Amino acid sequence: MDSIQAFMSRVISRNPGENEFHQAVHEVAETIIPFAETRPVYKKAKILERIVEPERVIIFRVPWMTDQGEIEVNRGYRVQMNSAIGPYKGGLRFHPSVNMSTLKFLAFEQIFKNSLTQLPMGGGKGGADFDPKGKSDREVMMFCQSFMTELFRHISSDNDIPAGDIGVGAREIGYLFGQYKRLKNEFTGVLTGKGASYGGSLIRPEATGYGVVYFVEQMLKLRKSSIKGKTIVISGSGNVAQYTLEKCLELGAKVVTLSDSGGYIYDEKGIDAEKFAYIMHLKNESRGRIKSYADKFGCTYVEGKRPWEVPCDIALPNATQNELNEEDAKLLIKNGCMCVAEGANMPCTPEAIAVFENNDILYSPGKAANAGGVAVSGLEMSQNSLRLSWSREEVDHKLQEIMFNIHATCTKYGYKPDGRLSYVQGANIGGFVRVADAMLAQGIV
Ligand code: NDP
Repeated sequence: MDSIQAFMSRVISRNPGENEFHQAVHEVAETIIPFAETRPVYKKAKILERIVEPERVIIFRVPWMTDQGEIEVNRGYRVQMNSAIGPYKGGLRFHPSVNMSTLKFLAFEQIFKNSLTQLPMGGGKGGADFDPKGKSDREVMMFCQSFMTELFRHISSDNDIPAGDIGVGAREIGYLFGQYKRLKNEFTGVLTGKGASYGGSLIRPEATGYGVVYFVEQMLKLRKSSIKGKTIVISGSGNVAQYTLEKCLELGAKVVTLSDSGGYIYDEKGIDAEKFAYIMHLKNESRGRIKSYADKFGCTYVEGKRPWEVPCDIALPNATQNELNEEDAKLLIKNGCMCVAEGANMPCTPEAIAVFENNDILYSPGKAANAGGVAVSGLEMSQNSLRLSWSREEVDHKLQEIMFNIHATCTKYGYKPDGRLSYVQGANIGGFVRVADAMLAQGIV
């Protein structure tokens, strides 16, 4: 469509070289521009043109010292993308690949995801090109303290509340929170994903992974099916992958793969509770590589590859962006895959998504399927403000309800004129409307 092309040319020329950001915007523009044609009020107010422009971007120097006394310098960022429906909310990513393009795409996706939860949270994202892998705890602490020494002046519990993402887990959140508290002399819910002993919500570590599985259950219901007995392929072995795996096991599915940036393991017999406990220790305590799993349990390890060649009923890409391409999508379908849900953000390329949608595969984008993490972050913010802690059951129940409602929103907005359901369309329009209405109400800001 000409209007989509014209819109994208402008986005590309204003944000040169930011390929991931262009990709995320294009995916949204493809559904929102035709939708806005039917709602001239959005078009006239240039909502989409405004939504792609961050409200504010902060870039800063992060100097720190290694255990050997060497001085290192990294670059820190916070993208405050949209605050129409609530304070900026979104994780921090520490990974060598972090740059402006990655963080703008993530912050942009976050606007729609947060809106879908129906909680009052705007979109933001941040991080640094720092690699926690291979660093000592002390080095990670030095880095986190230096990072927060600048970031603290730009965030607060009422204005911007970061959380974890790739490379930022419980350890990093602890160091970041400690430094914020020290600098501000305030104990507030300025970060989520905190430890349970200092204001964290129960179920927050599990929330993204559990939420993915709750969402998949809703998708499968449309085909009068369920997760029980299904063979599942998961990529990644970090926070999201771990708890996706745990919930799949609990619901009686067989998970046969996990991966990291080195390669993937294929355990044909399925990963059971004992093996799951080993993975938790391997990844969260000894911080080792997934290959050790294959060495310990005598299963296949495929170096340098992703697990999409393994036959399965359901594929859950839970590692990183653009990890599943057109060829992978075709192979998955050929091998019998019926459902793909994104635990990671933007793991499927646009070409792979087209293959899924054109072949009537149940496919859900991350902004819907992985919204459980930020949803429970929102619940952590509420508990911090109330100075209360809800029980595990209470939080889990609310998480299930939120995932159910996100699914309902996707089906409300996702049906195409030919009767097919597109979760891409449903999630984009469902997320957009709430933010757009708030922007309209707030005037030209
Ligand atoms: P973790 O850091 O805990 O784990 C990331 C996993 O992905 C690791 O196994 C890592 O392997 C692998 N990985 C990372 N980068 C690459 C790469 N370039 N190539 C291959 N493998 C890679 O992160 P999370 O589990 O928290 O996040 C995973 C995904 O889920 C991300 O896309 C994130 O944005 C998304 N997400 C996370 C949420 C959360 O609550 N944590 C919420 C919603 C979405 P290795 O250790 O070798 O790098």
